[in-house]
Amino acid sequence: MLSRDEWLDLARKLDWDFSYVTERDVFPEVTSGSPWLRQEEGKDWDEPFRTTYAEYVANQSAKEASVRAVHEAVGQAADFQKLHPHWLSALKLHAATLPLAEFAAVVGNLRAARFGRDSAWRTMSTFGALDEIRHAQIPLVLLHDMVRHDPQFDWTHKFYHSNNWVAIAARHLFDELLLASDPIEFAIATHFVFETGFTNLQFVGLSSVAHAVGDRMFETMLKSIQTDEARHSQIGDAVLAKIVAHDPARAQYLVDKWFWRTWHLFAVVTGFSMDYLTPLASRRTSFKEFMQEWVLDQFVRTMEEHGLSRPWYWDTFVESLDAYHHMVYASAYSYRATVWFDFALPGPEERVWLAEKYPSTWPMFEPVWRRLADRWRESGPGVEWHSHGATPVGFCDLCQLVLSGGTPEQNTAVTVTRGDKKLVFCSEPCRWIYEQEPSRYEAHDDVVKRILAGEAPANLLELLRKYFGLTSATWGKDVERGGYRWLGEE
Ligand code: FE
Ligand code: FE
Repeated sequence: MLSRDEWLDLARKLDWDFSYVTERDVFPEVTSGSPWLRQEEGKDWDEPFRTTYAEYVANQSAKEASVRAVHEAVGQAADFQKLHPHWLSALKLHAATLPLAEFAAVVGNLRAARFGRDSAWRTMSTFGALDEIRHAQIPLVLLHDMVRHDPQFDWTHKFYHSNNWVAIAARHLFDELLLASDPIEFAIATHFVFETGFTNLQFVGLSSVAHAVGDRMFETMLKSIQTDEARHSQIGDAVLAKIVAHDPARAQYLVDKWFWRTWHLFAVVTGFSMDYLTPLASRRTSFKEFMQEWVLDQFVRTMEEHGLSRPWYWDTFVESLDAYHHMVYASAYSYRATVWFDFALPGPEERVWLAEKYPSTWPMFEPVWRRLADRWRESGPGVEWHSHGATPVGFCDLCQLVLSGGTPEQNTAVTVTRGDKKLVFCSEPCRWIYEQEPSRYEAHDDVVKRILAGEAPANLLELLRKYFGLTSATWGKDVERGGYRWLGEE
């Protein structure tokens, strides 16, 4: 039998010359992406992981077996019930936003498996698609199962099928990123920005937090998924190098656009989890410190290696590291009944910790939380109240998240008039992204526009029940129902 090295290069590089159609017919630019690359561009394509199908199957099967073993050992209801209730909220946030986004990533990988402009790229994308099926299945199996004990875990499956405002924002991002983009944009956005730039935050940073809170199941799940990401994410570097060589401006544009969009997603999902939903005793470093260590330093270095510059909005981004997730969390706490997971009210010790970690901005957030604590003192524990302030909530016409740019003292929302439409953006980068490709975004209506058009109910309770798909059992509450001992002491 031939040894692996004797046949692998031939098998992973199956490009041939077409005799009765042109290359452009087989790989049209609209589905293969711009700039259009000729086949011979890929002849020096090289990816460090040279995986054969047999090796892939054997490896994946071993990974599945170890996830199953941990599930059997510590994945029972009693194990989940031992977890801190605040951390369970972080799990619910991940349970909803993760699995079906991974499933959408199957489509992006499959498009590249057919239309990527090199056969080794296509081979790796085929494995990538198989990986993403697994990334959808693992959290569905592990986390949806918890619905027997807690109805909010139903949102593991339900989330993307709902018109919840967070789901609308998440679909706006993931539909574009994973379902609609061509293989070049997909590779740069998903493999390079998302999987190389940001997922360390999730899979290294958050899995160490999971370890600290004693959640072995979630830790195992994240690490198992990460081993796949590490393999298919290298498609990103190889594709980015090609695009930089042919059209550096486009490469820079795609990185700038997707870095900002991805940042918003992680600020909410990982930012909430690390700085608010991890019990204080288990916190290691702040979300900002994780970002600095795992994203800023490494990502900037990788971009420079590719000959790219930092995104033009870098100063805005660095400022938002100190404020953005705090803004969204405070806003979402006030409107917690509009989501499917519970919120922790940061107590005095947590606020001291946050003030140490965010010295430049926390003094602006401190009074917000003191006021919210006072509301609990007035209502008493167990009596949920809702502070639907006088200012109506507005959503960004690009990211679809509540307008939370800037600080409590200065919101950075900007408005733009286009034809008869008045648009509002949470930040300059969101406005810039929209204006690069308005035709891609202009048909999308946010929740407020849907209400104004009569598509969604204007009454908040009806909106929650009929449009967002929530019930009194599933909508978000204060995780302690206001029963914090410190409320009486402070
Ligand atoms: Fe994945
Ligand atoms: Fe925005």
